[in-house]
Amino acid sequence: MAPDRDHAPLAERVEELLAAGGPLPIVAAGRPVLRRPTEPYDGQLGPALLARFVEALRLTMRAAPGVGLAAPQVGVELRIAVLEDPAPVPEEIAVVRGRRPQPFRVLVNPSCEPVGTARAAFFEGCLSVPGWQAVVARHAEVRLRAEDEHGHPVDDVFTGWPARIVQHETDHLDGMLYLDRADLRSLSTNEAVAALWSQPTPAAAADALGFELP
Ligand code: ZN
Repeated sequence: MAPDRDHAPLAERVEELLAAGGPLPIVAAGRPVLRRPTEPYDGQLGPALLARFVEALRLTMRAAPGVGLAAPQVGVELRIAVLEDPAPVPEEIAVVRGRRPQPFRVLVNPSCEPVGTARAAFFEGCLSVPGWQAVVARHAEVRLRAEDEHGHPVDDVFTGWPARIVQHETDHLDGMLYLDRADLRSLSTNEAVAALWSQPTPAAAADALGFELP
């Protein structure tokens, strides 16, 4: 019987995934790996392979390009994600959306909880749902607890766009996609967002498409 790749030890599968070099293939919606909760990271890869895996996630996120990437999006069911946002947007948008440059970070075993009750709703997209965006109301501020790639504890508060990225990536690690939280009446192609809904807020889209904002 041929060995079952899905049941090969995780480290072996990650080695295999990294063997090709370059950006990793991104798994798209419909694949069960995006819908399963991940395993907490507990040294399954060892320090050297973890460092190579994190580097591959960074390379893949930048090549996409995206501002965050979770391990299940490359087919690996571990509680690990990366984020980085150079925030190349006009000042008006940066201010309204709280989109400020975010340095590269590795989140190992992250969990986040809301700070306060404020919510913010904006269009967002996902590398695993290519071509589409929808409006998601998320906590405006969250407290993130995690470890970094060296096992050092992280305990930080995020606001604005980085808070959105942190929630989006943590959701991936719980088997959720942004569409589970989106107002589906806002669902728009990237082309429609670029042509019609590039304003700093989704207020005009809410009026025209018929959805509520918080
Ligand atoms: Zn995503």
